[in-house]
Amino acid sequence: MALRHASAYALRTWPLGEADFIVELFTLERGRVRVVARSARRPKSRFGSALQPFTRSQIVYFQRDKDDLGRLSSCEIEKSYFETLATLENAPMAAYWAELIIGFTPELDPIPDLYRLTGAALDGLQAGADVELMARYFEIWVLRISGLLPDLQHCSQCGRSMEGDVWVSETTQGFVCGRDCAGGVAGTRLATPARALLSVILTNSPVQLAGGEVSRGAVRALEKVTGLLIRGQLDRVPRSWWVMQQLRRRR
Ligand SMILES: [Zn+2]
Repeated sequence: MALRHASAYALRTWPLGEADFIVELFTLERGRVRVVARSARRPKSRFGSALQPFTRSQIVYFQRDKDDLGRLSSCEIEKSYFETLATLENAPMAAYWAELIIGFTPELDPIPDLYRLTGAALDGLQAGADVELMARYFEIWVLRISGLLPDLQHCSQCGRSMEGDVWVSETTQGFVCGRDCAGGVAGTRLATPARALLSVILTNSPVQLAGGEVSRGAVRALEKVTGLLIRGQLDRVPRSWWVMQQLRRRR
């Protein structure tokens, strides 16, 4: 059994037997790992609140090889976002982020940029950044880090440089220009304000965006495009995305 140390965000848990949890964690060093946390469901668990979604801890665990379900030995909490994520708006979004991390990363594949994005987005939310803006932020950067955010400067059909409104093609997932190319494809329009928002997201940290003006129209327009790109990759709409939509309708 190999003893391993890692920096980790807890993503989700499943009950196992009477008293245990299986925990899925996103680690800096080894990507997504699954471990058993023995007696974690007992009232005085030694893991305390470390298994709450997106609590960041230094963990020690045992894992024989990649096919083995590891065993969590200890967690030392570095940072908790419990209060930030306990609200009716933020809790479903945390579930959405976890679903995106799980959907876009294979197990045991470290992606340090995505690990840093997770921390930065959580800090942004904690600093009061708009929840829908942070949802788009996470989507855009997950796509970018995965190499799936299409080139926004040049049309994927004719290669010419693009200005103003652009369209994203349903079939190729590339951006196309509005000259002759957009007419021939089924796609979603990314109008100039939403395109400007995309640039803002690509050039600012989440904390920098906290407290700024948010155009609800641009955020929702950008959501149509990120939704198309994410569906194209995962072959489904993330379940937690539907939950967020239902909550939004009730507000
Ligand atoms: Zn074109």
